[in-house]
Amino acid sequence: MVTVTVTAKFHQPTRSRRREWQDAMHVYRDTKQGLVDGWASGELGMSVTTASIDNDLYSAVQNQAIREAKAEYKRDGWMDYTAAQPFATNNQNWKLETTDNGSVVVGFPCISQWWYTPIHVHDEIREPVERVLEGEAKKSRLQVYRRGDEWFCSFTVEYDTVPEGETPIGVDIGERHILAAHALGADGSMLVSGKEARYVRRKYRSLRDSLQEAGALRARNRVGNKEHRRIRDLNHTLSRRLVDFADQFENPVVRIETLEGIRDRTEWSGVHSWHFHQLQTFITYKAEQAGIRVETVDPAYTSQDCSSCGERGSRNGDHFRCDSCGYERHADLNAAANIGKREGEPCTA
Ligand SMILES: [Zn+2]
Repeated sequence: MVTVTVTAKFHQPTRSRRREWQDAMHVYRDTKQGLVDGWASGELGMSVTTASIDNDLYSAVQNQAIREAKAEYKRDGWMDYTAAQPFATNNQNWKLETTDNGSVVVGFPCISQWWYTPIHVHDEIREPVERVLEGEAKKSRLQVYRRGDEWFCSFTVEYDTVPEGETPIGVDIGERHILAAHALGADGSMLVSGKEARYVRRKYRSLRDSLQEAGALRARNRVGNKEHRRIRDLNHTLSRRLVDFADQFENPVVRIETLEGIRDRTEWSGVHSWHFHQLQTFITYKAEQAGIRVETVDPAYTSQDCSSCGERGSRNGDHFRCDSCGYERHADLNAAANIGKREGEPCTA
């Protein structure tokens, strides 16, 4: 993922819209000042809504003023907004579109209406702007402001970058399916059930438990060693399968969760987390032996986010569904795809 800040100049906005934007900047400042004053004096509660704001701004813009004033008040205490503030609207309440004649317009709500105004797309912002237009990127809030006689807008864009000719392979290690791998852009995936690992663990756990009751310490340790050998063999097989899978793609880069990530996942904490650690270590060194680069990524939200649009989705057993874009997939493969898309760090394991 990269985050790029886009600043663009509006192309010859008409006099009427410039006048309204100017008004909006001042009303926006007054709105924020009124909120901060109200909180400081105790007249307003922190959970204020647009119902307590009496001005002509669109409610999406009022809402953004509340959000910003709240963040600034919490961070800095009372504020004195002396200058006009860029007015803003949140990510869902503005648009970037292409018109029939090919110009790019930014549309946002203001006072009397939504204004759609062309912007200059210079070379430095061309890629992020196109990513948003193609629906491949997440955009932030939009800010509109004036510098001298010119009007500008500013927003950030978040999107994935895949280096030319590389195939990222995202790997999700889990309880239900011990391995899920997805090759980005190549449409290949692999899913290995965790049944065998679970069987081995259950079998030896019950053996250990019964020996513990009998107080047979040496026999119990022998069982422990046997279990370790079984798991090690299994991990060798699994890591070999994964490396063979990755090896069939052009310039594969294996992306895998950080060990800390695995440790933090509650269902893996405890006695058996070493199985997963060992599997991860085997994958890393076997991949490196095969000349395949391995990177670790931060696994936060990889199982909840939609790998198609990036919004939060929902998981029901093995099934992932995104309500925002309708995408559905095996939950572990969705997680693997998200891991593959993340910006990775070279693995040092
Ligand atoms: Zn989605």
